Amino acid sequence: MRFTEESIDELLGSWSRLRRSPAKEAGLVSVHGILAFELEPKGLPKIDDAYRVRIDIRVDRDDEVPEVFELDGRISRDVDEHVNPDGDFCLGSPLAVRLKLGRLPSLTHFVDQCVVPFLYAASWRRKGGIGWPFNELPHYSPGLLDDYQRLLRVSTAASTRLALAALCVRPRVANKLPCPCGCGLRLGKCSYRQHLASLRPFATRPYFRRIAEDFERRKFCNTSDDQIDPQADIPDLSPQALDRIRAASRHLEADFHPTSSLLPGV
Ligand SMILES: [Zn+2]
Repeated sequence: MRFTEESIDELLGSWSRLRRSPAKEAGLVSVHGILAFELEPKGLPKIDDAYRVRIDIRVDRDDEVPEVFELDGRISRDVDEHVNPDGDFCLGSPLAVRLKLGRLPSLTHFVDQCVVPFLYAASWRRKGGIGWPFNELPHYSPGLLDDYQRLLRVSTAASTRLALAALCVRPRVANKLPCPCGCGLRLGKCSYRQHLASLRPFATRPYFRRIAEDFERRKFCNTSDDQIDPQADIPDLSPQALDRIRAASRHLEADFHPTSSLLPGV
């Protein structure tokens, strides 16, 4: 999945106060303007408000979640406001956003389902709401592990890592890996494989690989406060299994050629 020019046009058609910004970087399309909404989520007060935002959309990469910035300083750059240090909204883990968007994501759907609820929450807090009105948005980094564990239906960092590794490779290869559920069987022998199979249609293997690499970089398995032995519940992560993951990863690298055909002005 990649956001196309058509998807950007559709977004500008749906949100008439958004405009295309001048292109600053190849492969990046920015739109800016006003998102005005009137929303009454179930069990929550009706709020109407408007924010000036910029949305940065990568059109040169598959499965990339757009970054959204609020431009008037109404939402502070604070982890409690779910804003990342760079100023972009923390809309949940990339995997969570990807799953929320479904199999045929559009930018309009992204704004409707992820950005507007985020802005509603910011207004709701300014009106005295405490915490988060919807119970599914964790802080990006500390909450990422929780979020992945929930989505992947596993309970430790090590299992999360193994489940992500399985999503990076073809099912045939993944079936030979130890099952992330901790049953001690190979994935192919456990019904947990059906859960992973249900996630596969939502993104490409290169995308899952980026998620897995990002997860590795965050070193959830290595920090002292994580209190998890990285191998604790992986009884059978043999050198051969690791080699198979690496070999498959190299193959994916060779498969993955970002093109520039969608760049503005190219
Ligand atoms: Zn299992």
